[in-house]
Amino acid sequence: MSLLSIRDLDVRHGLLQAVRGVSFDITEGEVLALVGANGAGKTTLLRSIAGAHLPAAGQVFLGGQDITAVPSHKRIAMGIALVPEGRRLFSQMTVEENLLLGKTAGRKGDWTIERVFDAFPNLKPRRRAKTGHLSGGEQQATAIGRALMSNPDILLLDEVSLGLSPLVVDRVYAQLQALLGDHHRPRRAGSRTCDERR
Ligand code: ATP
Repeated sequence: MSLLSIRDLDVRHGLLQAVRGVSFDITEGEVLALVGANGAGKTTLLRSIAGAHLPAAGQVFLGGQDITAVPSHKRIAMGIALVPEGRRLFSQMTVEENLLLGKTAGRKGDWTIERVFDAFPNLKPRRRAKTGHLSGGEQQATAIGRALMSNPDILLLDEVSLGLSPLVVDRVYAQLQALLGDHHRPRRAGSRTCDERR
């Protein structure tokens, strides 16, 4: 059975329809890349899956359960974690403090601060630095680490490479690949994606 199923999702910002009739399925261990032009609706779609923006029509299923009306804080507890565009860290708090916020979801699992530092070794020497003082790559690693600390079943990453130098982008992607393991290969998006209307 699919871990996540999106069915005929329409999402609006007032009169503007940002996402139109999107459907796809994701199974455990699968990677789905959502590709589209600026303004195609990728962020809106991810925010809808995370529960931060309720759709106008369509459904979101998690493990077969209809969660379309479930609010975002409950979706984190159910295993959906969003690494938002622009990181959205608490800049006056340290790396460790930001990571610990991921724990507040209360989900059981293997992720600890030390395991995040194993996955992102560049963060370890910065653990007591305020995130507002970090480089873009360190901030992105902290944002991914914070999401992992909630022990998600589904990790949604929005514009991971935004504002990062090519070298740092390569490093963050390599770190993500290491998390997945070699046997998890990316596939192309399903028949209908949010940018298909363009
Ligand atoms: P980008 O690659 O630039 O981040 P995107 O594919 O993530 O783009 P969205 O940010 O989801 O696209 O935007 C989709 C459409 O919805 C755009 O036309 C955008 O202007 C509009 N939009 C996004 N957020 C809002 C909002 N809060 N209020 C009104 N319109 C919005």
